[in-house]
Amino acid sequence: MRKKIVAGNWKMNTSVAEGVELAKGIVAKVAEISKGVTLIIAPPFTHLVPVAEVLKGSPIGLSAQNCATEPKGAFTGEVSAAMLKGIGCNYTILGHSERREYYGENADKLTKKIAMAFENGLKVIYCVGEKLEDRNFNQHFDVVSKQISDVLFTLAPEKMANVIIAYEPVWAIGTGETATAEQAQEMHAFIRSTLSAHFGEKIAENTTVLYGGSCKPSNAKELFACPDIDGGLIGGASLKADDFIAIAQAW
Ligand code: PEP
Repeated sequence: MRKKIVAGNWKMNTSVAEGVELAKGIVAKVAEISKGVTLIIAPPFTHLVPVAEVLKGSPIGLSAQNCATEPKGAFTGEVSAAMLKGIGCNYTILGHSERREYYGENADKLTKKIAMAFENGLKVIYCVGEKLEDRNFNQHFDVVSKQISDVLFTLAPEKMANVIIAYEPVWAIGTGETATAEQAQEMHAFIRSTLSAHFGEKIAENTTVLYGGSCKPSNAKELFACPDIDGGLIGGASLKADDFIAIAQAW
């Protein structure tokens, strides 16, 4: 059975002190969430150690927003998957559209990063999603299919148990414009059928597929009611404990 997950991507926001307060606010309310829903937060690298301390003893998962392609060595500015695991991370986001767009993350780099994450016991939240022009030219299915096949199809089937997919249409990220429930469900069903064609129906059915893109308390209910939407990857609305918790209560 696939899991219901709500994950917060804090991006490059909050000071360490603010991040610790935000994490404390989420921990204080986690009991208000149904047991069947997993919460994950992804603070910036600098916040991970103190936030891990706040999360100790809580059921909330800790994620990084990225990891290095290499295990260690002369790679100035990088943070390895082993370092992340060592300080208590259980997950890393990979392939976020902002990293694809601004930092040249391509299939080759993402394949290496996923291998590093798995070697070090991290699960991966793998992001896919089309740009507005792709959708306008009716190429959104092709783009998402390629983002999946170029990277995830290189994995042995059993590794898919450690992958969560986040469908995030780039035109909906941080714009206030959300995909309609119909658009999101259509793409989520397509993602599941793409997985099914390669890995088989069982793996496709067991893979959690999150929606991301201006998801907030006011629209989460409608989105999460869709049969192939298993939760959300939340940016802006994850920076307020009340909103993040309200989204996780949307089922
Ligand atoms: C994101 O970038 O992962 C995201 C979903 O952002 P927002 O919720 O702010 O659109």
